[in-house]
Amino acid sequence: MGKRYGKKLWLIERVKNLNNKELAESFTKLLTLRWSPVAVKLLKPGEAIPENVVEPSTPLRHCQAITVARRGTSLYMPPSKHACPDGAAIMGLVPMSPKLRSGELYLLFKKLPNIECAQKMIASRPEFDPGTYRASIVAPLEDATFEPDVVIFTIYPEQMMWLCCASSYGSGERHVFHTSGYNATCADLTVQVIKSQKMNISFGCYGARAITEINDFEAYLSVPYNQLQSLIESLEKLSAKSIPEARRKIYMPPVIDSVALTGQEGAYSVKIRINEERCTGCELCVAFCPEAVLEMKTIHGATKACATDVEKCCACYTCVGQCPQKAIQLEVRPE
Ligand code: SF4
Ligand code: SF4
Repeated sequence: MGKRYGKKLWLIERVKNLNNKELAESFTKLLTLRWSPVAVKLLKPGEAIPENVVEPSTPLRHCQAITVARRGTSLYMPPSKHACPDGAAIMGLVPMSPKLRSGELYLLFKKLPNIECAQKMIASRPEFDPGTYRASIVAPLEDATFEPDVVIFTIYPEQMMWLCCASSYGSGERHVFHTSGYNATCADLTVQVIKSQKMNISFGCYGARAITEINDFEAYLSVPYNQLQSLIESLEKLSAKSIPEARRKIYMPPVIDSVALTGQEGAYSVKIRINEERCTGCELCVAFCPEAVLEMKTIHGATKACATDVEKCCACYTCVGQCPQKAIQLEVRPE
């Protein structure tokens, strides 16, 4: 099994002109992704199997199938190829076995202290009724010949942060995630996102951590497919300034360089030096200063930035980081 090329790509009207390959390429470029986003679809009874998916030779858990997909292979997963009976039941492919439904297995694994906790966890987790779906399909997004229900990213916290920002970009809304340390890819990333039509995160679960290659620094974020286009549009806007600046850590070097572990508490003094020759008068420092420390003045006939209210400076280094001319220096000392 390997990555397949030259496939007919599914063009989706409602995500404008971006097809699955273009969506995957855009996310990979904008977020510098390590792994392909994975397209996940639950196939309804009677629904045709998409093109260019293969049935694995041996059963896999849903989390393992996602791992295989993010490495480039598209899979058709009927119930007989699901190695995790819990995951298959949660996604509505098979009935749940009485032993799993009762919660007693969670006690054997010592993942919960008593049957009451196990039953509460099971009752509160999202799942579909048995027979709602007949198979799961997973594929690297760039190769998906179908319209997925959700797209799952295996990513780092910094990349998750930008996807959260992109999701809130047009609304300013906060995220309320519905997650647990149990049943990560089936319940929290697939069923929960299909049902709620909201982005959700997961840090993985016992099974996903023990049986896939996900590393200790990676986690998952799942998005309804119909939100991908607007995420790309917002990420493009964030990429114009915020993402590259944060990645360059523009405020860090002067702060780190000036830290002295003196053990002294209390007051400090700030000196702000603005190099007149370098300053082009762009006013960025004045605009970004949260404490109105700086203002523009005419010096020798030219408009230059000046520090006029230094006592109010909180030493945030925003002006230093934002000045395109590197004209500003801060000296912060304990008094
Ligand atoms: S940001 Fe730099 S160049 Fe622009 S006005 Fe301030 S000091 Fe001058
Ligand atoms: S360090 Fe922060 S508070 Fe001080 S002048 Fe610069 S932007 Fe303003």
